[in-house]
Amino acid sequence: MSTIELQNLTKSFGDLTAVNNVSLKVDENEVLCLLGPSGCGKTTTLRMVAGLEIATSGNILIDNKNVNELETRDRNLAMAFQFYALYPSLTVGENLANPLHAENLSEKEIKEKIFEIADILQLREIINRKPHQLAEGEKQRVAVGRAIIRDPQCFLFDEPLSRLDVQLREQMRGQIKEVLSDLNKATVIVTHDQLEALTMATKIAVMRDGLIEQISSPHDIFAKPENTFVAGFIGTPQMNIADCNISNINSSVLEISLLNQKIEIDFGKTLDINKNENYFLGVRPRSFDLVDAETNESLSGEVDLIENMGSEVLLHINSNNASFRTVQSRSHKIKVGEKIYLKPKKSQVHLFNSDGKVIAHG
Ligand code: ATP
Repeated sequence: MSTIELQNLTKSFGDLTAVNNVSLKVDENEVLCLLGPSGCGKTTTLRMVAGLEIATSGNILIDNKNVNELETRDRNLAMAFQFYALYPSLTVGENLANPLHAENLSEKEIKEKIFEIADILQLREIINRKPHQLAEGEKQRVAVGRAIIRDPQCFLFDEPLSRLDVQLREQMRGQIKEVLSDLNKATVIVTHDQLEALTMATKIAVMRDGLIEQISSPHDIFAKPENTFVAGFIGTPQMNIADCNISNINSSVLEISLLNQKIEIDFGKTLDINKNENYFLGVRPRSFDLVDAETNESLSGEVDLIENMGSEVLLHINSNNASFRTVQSRSHKIKVGEKIYLKPKKSQVHLFNSDGKVIAHG
């Protein structure tokens, strides 16, 4: 069995709490992505798991065993960090073989493993090259290969794809996910790239200022954000989040005032809502349907600016001097200055309280 568990893990550097009371569990065969803006504590968390940083407080369990006091080399983890170090005098094949030398394998077994990994990571053609003859992306793939070629208990990756060009990144995301899903190990990947997290993870932990804001499946992180930070951080273009208040409540249907307009939204259940309080309403730019005329379930506004996105356009809508954005098909042939009517799609609207905590998705 291979699991990683963090219990109330905290790391302070002087006055700065880089990681603040983080608890999470990564099960066998789970890929957890730590995702968040620069400086939120992702790498520090990973380094503590690896034993490269000593926790100020809390526990790290690998396979249910407390490893707080264990040296890195005794934790049986495989790591691939952003700043990979390949042996410059060894070929790609020899670099891949290096971690296997301590494993008591026959020459034949080592060769088979090298070719297996080389195939997965498309390294066959460069297997006899030395690091100085490799492109940056190739070096990174060798580093990933070296990390997964042994049979460690768990995998830790820090921005493993950061040096790859866009096309290769896309291919590698899928491939690494496939490789990891066959290995049945707990894996933690640090990334600031949400697409990387959404495609590779089975579970995402969104961090901010050392704290975990939400841990959920990639689908739920996107579709059911628990607060306005996660809602705004995940998804491009960014979610529209506007101040609002509730002007009328009719069982599960709320009449919401925002952008100096009123809109009715059915949340499917009666909510604990107070008419006198302030709320935030969140709707992703892709979560609006274009409708022909104003209804009590639509918002309206004038198109201020159109950004071309290929087959789609990003429309900046001016509504009573406030603005929001929507993505629509280019085929609608919308023009600047046009008044349009937009109805939020069912189950793609998010209501948050004044502290930014979610109240309902509807
Ligand atoms: P990035 O994506 O930029 O690497 P991150 O989310 O991985 O960011 P960390 O590298 O974990 O963030 O850093 C968290 C905070 O801790 C930052 O404010 C950073 O400056 C600080 N920090 C990290 N390592 C040290 C250290 N050795 N000494 C002092 N402060 C540190």
